[in-house]
Amino acid sequence: MRPFQHVAVDSAQAAAQAATAARVASPLQSPTQFLAGGTTLIDLMKLDVMRPQTLVDINPLERGPLGRIETENGSLRLGALVRMANAAEHPIVKRDYPVIAQSLKLAASQQLRNMASLGGNVLQRTRCSYFRDVSYEACNKRNPGSGCAALDGFNRPHAVLGVSESCIASYPGDFAQALIALDAGVELNGSRGRRFIPFAMLHRKPADTPDIETSLAAGDIITAFVLPAGAWTRRSLYLKIRDRSSYEFALASAAVALDLDAGKAREIRIALGGVATVPWRAKEAEAVLRGKEINKESLHAAAEAAFAGARTHEHNAFKVALGKRTLIRAVTEAAAMEI
Ligand code: FAD
Ligand code: SF4
Repeated sequence: MRPFQHVAVDSAQAAAQAATAARVASPLQSPTQFLAGGTTLIDLMKLDVMRPQTLVDINPLERGPLGRIETENGSLRLGALVRMANAAEHPIVKRDYPVIAQSLKLAASQQLRNMASLGGNVLQRTRCSYFRDVSYEACNKRNPGSGCAALDGFNRPHAVLGVSESCIASYPGDFAQALIALDAGVELNGSRGRRFIPFAMLHRKPADTPDIETSLAAGDIITAFVLPAGAWTRRSLYLKIRDRSSYEFALASAAVALDLDAGKAREIRIALGGVATVPWRAKEAEAVLRGKEINKESLHAAAEAAFAGARTHEHNAFKVALGKRTLIRAVTEAAAMEI
């Protein structure tokens, strides 16, 4: 690992100032990085994929609002430095937002969840093996303009939705699917002061600049995620399908939240993981089911709509069928929940 400078800060503003000096197109490639749990960042520094010169250690901020889970006017505020394990076990999260608790509990391992923060989790990088191995030259995300080794290489874990000619890497996280399904907001502090953006605007599809993964500006620190109240949050779940039943990333997953009225979907929210380049809201599938009875026909029509725009490569065509089945099973199980 290359040498770096370690700077600890005691306020979100100081953190943002320390990181703003670096003006780069992609904050994730910035020479200054925030250090939270370090479970993505240090990993990638050891692999020489990320090469920051300065780590701004934000862990001291855990003692303030960034480390708290609070409710306010029916909405839930999750501080960005809350550890995944603590959010997954929080009684209000488990009772009122099961999809959040399950998406966290089904991620990584207990040891990682004890270290890893919510803010770091949503900003984790792809697990594309060509991205993580610097001996491969061709990776537009790591090395802009170099090509994409996955297009003609081993692309079984890669995305089928939101892909481009430049990059087909899948977004690996679980928690983000729950956030986007529930219309979460992101609280930021940075060079433009404090601001709030919809979670759906945080990640960017690869298009022809896969190295720019988020809409964050240099120095932006995520301080919290805010989940609005909704009649659908209690009847919600996260279904994760993977090669082995623990300690593995999703091949396909679905976050579902449902407000049911006599068997009909008064409101429904669906997000898909493991199959897309970014956290993926399946709005087309929601439109098919909204106001309709949840039955075999409507579920199949919704699954078809969700994957109508899928683009597959040599080894990942199975994800279309798997993704559809995952969506159908998740909505079926959500409809059967006793709340
Ligand atoms: P860090 O590594 O500290 O930071 C990650 C990135 O986010 C850095 O670029 C950092 O600068 C930035 N950052 C951190 N906090 C902030 C903030 N508040 N504001 C702005 N920028 C910030 N995840 C899943 O979802 N599902 C899985 O199944 C899964 N399996 C895993 C298996 C293994 C073996 C490993 C190593 C990881 C796995 N993960 C999985 C990923 C893991 O959950 C993430 O590594 C972790 O959540 C990252 O959080 P962190 O606090 O350690 O982030
Ligand atoms: Fe790089 Fe994306 Fe291609 Fe993977 S899929 S090699 S991350 S450009």
